Amino acid sequence: MLARRILAAALGAAAPAGAQLGGATPAQAAPRVLYYDASRAAEFVAVVHQGAQNWNNRVTNVRLEPVPAGQRANITVYVDNGWPRAYTQSLGNGYWYMGRQAVNQGYHPPRIAAHEFGHLLGLPDRRTGLCADLMSGSSAAISCTNAFPNAQEASRVNSNFATLQTVPLQTTGPRAYEWVTAGA
Ligand SMILES: [Zn+2]
Repeated sequence: MLARRILAAALGAAAPAGAQLGGATPAQAAPRVLYYDASRAAEFVAVVHQGAQNWNNRVTNVRLEPVPAGQRANITVYVDNGWPRAYTQSLGNGYWYMGRQAVNQGYHPPRIAAHEFGHLLGLPDRRTGLCADLMSGSSAAISCTNAFPNAQEASRVNSNFATLQTVPLQTTGPRAYEWVTAGA
């Protein structure tokens, strides 16, 4: 027991966190490709493609591409009459709903699509109320039509996928994100 503690202390001293960060070299490899399946998105197929394209236009370390025939999708998009919401199994893997309730209330469909893809790319909700923030979701005005991640959001997604050529996708565990906060 004591030996284990000493070993742990020695390891901690040998590899201070700052030294590791300072020594890291940004990966210059090809972007990680995530396949998405929009075939179940009914009247929102084009909107789903647009949401994916908006991310592709702003990030370099990951690309969202329609799943080729015979391949398994990382991300499946569904539609129902509820609120939009996303469920992630791990970074880059899961599914989300294009909920008609938000669309019927006037929320901009491409913004919803890009926002929900943002969850699959590892971003949480940030209910800042700002239209410039994609991840502010329904906290921004219904009239907000910004469907692109801002520089900070894009940068965070790039970091999430920066080391994936050498390191497996980290498992974040299952999570659920709702367009509208329960009880709000
Ligand atoms: Zn959300």
